[in-house]
Amino acid sequence: MSYLRLAVTDRCNLRCSYCMPAEGIAYLPSKKLLSWEEMLRIVQVLHPMGIKKVRITGGEPFVRNGLMDFLTELSHLKDLEVCLTTNGVLLESQIQNLADLGIKSINLSLDALDRDRFFQITRRDDYEIVYQNLLGLIEANFHVKINAVVMQGKNEADILALTNFAKDHPVSVRFIEEMPFNGSGQLEPILHWNHQRIFSEIQQAHPDIQIMPGSIGETATKYQIPGFSGDIGIIAAFTRTFCGTCNRVRVTALGQVKTCLYDDGVFDLKEYLRAGASNEEMADTFLRLFAQRPLNGFEAEKNRKGVIQESMTSIGG
Ligand code: SAM
Ligand code: SF4
Repeated sequence: MSYLRLAVTDRCNLRCSYCMPAEGIAYLPSKKLLSWEEMLRIVQVLHPMGIKKVRITGGEPFVRNGLMDFLTELSHLKDLEVCLTTNGVLLESQIQNLADLGIKSINLSLDALDRDRFFQITRRDDYEIVYQNLLGLIEANFHVKINAVVMQGKNEADILALTNFAKDHPVSVRFIEEMPFNGSGQLEPILHWNHQRIFSEIQQAHPDIQIMPGSIGETATKYQIPGFSGDIGIIAAFTRTFCGTCNRVRVTALGQVKTCLYDDGVFDLKEYLRAGASNEEMADTFLRLFAQRPLNGFEAEKNRKGVIQESMTSIGG
């Protein structure tokens, strides 16, 4: 357990079709969300237990007031890598502040390099601003990973467009298999674009693509193409090929602990800490939960109380 993914809100300013229905989801009242103080305490408990990296996610982290103060508090914790995943819409005024806080790596979700396709997927007309903010992050020397979910009939053209973006820009473009967390309970019967099909699409255009060595706990299989400034990653998020080296623990905005993305929450941490749990009790609980985690995402899915109906905006990805 060395990597915490912390969802700081379930709210979002986009409506990506793979993540949320057009009308959004029923957001819970703010007091049902973990407070910034509670989240800081959770990180402070986990950090000495070996958590080396925390990723702030959501919902869209930048829609919650107080994010920058929270990041400032996290920046005071020694030897903790703080990263963010964002849709990039609200980044502009914060790029320099994020750099000043020592944040080096940002994942930006961008599924299409085209205004119409972006609109069709996110149901919002924010392509230009996100694209400019992407360039702003690159300019400010962040290590940028572009996350793109590949969907049948929506952004196949972007597999090569985004791959080519990595030719001239020092970014990691990561193609993600679509998972069934769209909040509608309606699931595609088959995965049209699995990791092998995404790879062959890229390989046909770039036969000299080569696999790169991976590191432990990494979900992306990484590739380089000779002459490219950036690299390519493919994440078999639905096929679940990487569970054996998983080092992650997730805390959702509602304060549920997840030891696998596919479980339905294995512990109500918010209630536990609001009932007065000590830091030692919390630490012991994390160790117990991590030791009991399922073998892989298929087992976690089998252990659920019901079928997947939730939205990724309440989980954090
Ligand atoms: N709002 C931020 C963003 O979009 O980057 C952070 C939260 S979002 C839930 C985190 C990541 O989950 C994004 O990269 C998004 O593409 C991914 N994601 C959301 N729903 C997904 C799904 N059904 N399948 C695969 N990835 C998904
Ligand atoms: Fe919002 Fe991110 Fe979900 Fe898109 S993927 S709706 S930006 S939380």
